[in-house]
Amino acid sequence: MDEIRIDNLKVYAYHGVLEKERKDGQFFYINAVLSLNLQRAGILDDLNASVSYADVCEWIIEMMQEKKCLLIEAVAEKIAIGILKRSEQIMAITLEVRKPEAPIDAEFESVSVCIHRKRHTAYVAFGSNEGDSINLIETGIAALDHDPMCRVVKFSEIYRSIPYGEVKQNDFYNGIMEVETYYEPEELLRMLQVIENEQGRVRTVHWGPRTLDLDIIFYDNLVYDSKTLQIPHPDAHNRDFVLAPMNSLEPNYRHPLLHLTVAEMLANITDTYVLSETKSGSSN
Ligand code: ADP
Ligand code: MG
Repeated sequence: MDEIRIDNLKVYAYHGVLEKERKDGQFFYINAVLSLNLQRAGILDDLNASVSYADVCEWIIEMMQEKKCLLIEAVAEKIAIGILKRSEQIMAITLEVRKPEAPIDAEFESVSVCIHRKRHTAYVAFGSNEGDSINLIETGIAALDHDPMCRVVKFSEIYRSIPYGEVKQNDFYNGIMEVETYYEPEELLRMLQVIENEQGRVRTVHWGPRTLDLDIIFYDNLVYDSKTLQIPHPDAHNRDFVLAPMNSLEPNYRHPLLHLTVAEMLANITDTYVLSETKSGSSN
C-alpha cells in the first residue's frame, strides 16, 4: 500500500499526568504514516484523488488542542481514529506521539508511543431467548451503532431457532450484523459485553437462557486465539442460526481456517436449529 508520511509535526499542547504539564504545556512531535492508494492521484496529478497532508496536519493540531489527556496513549488513539474517521480513503494509520520534555529525572532524548489502527469489518451474531427478545436485539444493535468506534453497516432479519445444547429453555431469536469498527478484537469483545450487561445479561448456565448474547463470529480474515476470545467463533460453521443469517448478508465470505464460503458451510449443515418459517416478520 502507498503511504503519505508526516514527520515531526510540532504541536504545543497540555497533555500529561502532572498538573504542571497540564497547566504550562509543552511541545509534542507527531509522526504519521497514512496508508492509501495514491496511483490515481499520481496518474491524474490531482489532489482530489489524494488526501491533503496540509489538511491532515490541521486535523492533528486541532485534535491535540481540543481536550487535555493524561496519557500520550490517549492522544495517539484520538488522533489515529479521528484521521480514519475524517477520510474513508485512508485505510490504515501508524501514529507516533513523542514527548521530548517528559518529566523524567534522567537524561533522555524523548519518550513516545506508536500505534497502528485501521478500519475493520466484524460480523457479530446476536441471540436472545429471555425477556422481550426482539426489543433487546434492536436495542443492542442501536447501542453498538452509537458507540463512536463502531458503525453497524447492515444486519440480517431475526431468525427463530430451537435451543442449542442440553439446557431446556425457550426458543431463540438469532441473527447477525456487519460492523465497521476501529476496535481491536479484545476491545470489541469488551464493548459487546458492556452492551450485554446493559441489557440485563447475567451469565449463569453455559448455553443457558440469555437476554442478549453478542458473539464475534468473524473479524476481517483474522484467526485469533486467546484465553478470552477465539476468532472465527469456534462453533460458527456448525450453527445454521449463525450461517443462515450470515448467508443473507455475505454468502461469499470465506472462513479463514476452513477455506469454505458461508454458503458452502450452510449447505454442509446436518443439524438444523432454525425453524422453517422464521425471520422477524413471522415471529410469534
Ligand atoms: P456463549 O458461548 O453461549 O456465547 P457466553 O456469551 O457466556 O457464552 O461466552 C462465554 C465466553 O466466551 C466469553 O466470556 C468470552 O470470553 C468467550 N469467547 C470466546 N470467543 C468468543 C467470541 N468469538 N465471541 C464472543 N465471546 C467469545
Ligand atoms: Mg456469547
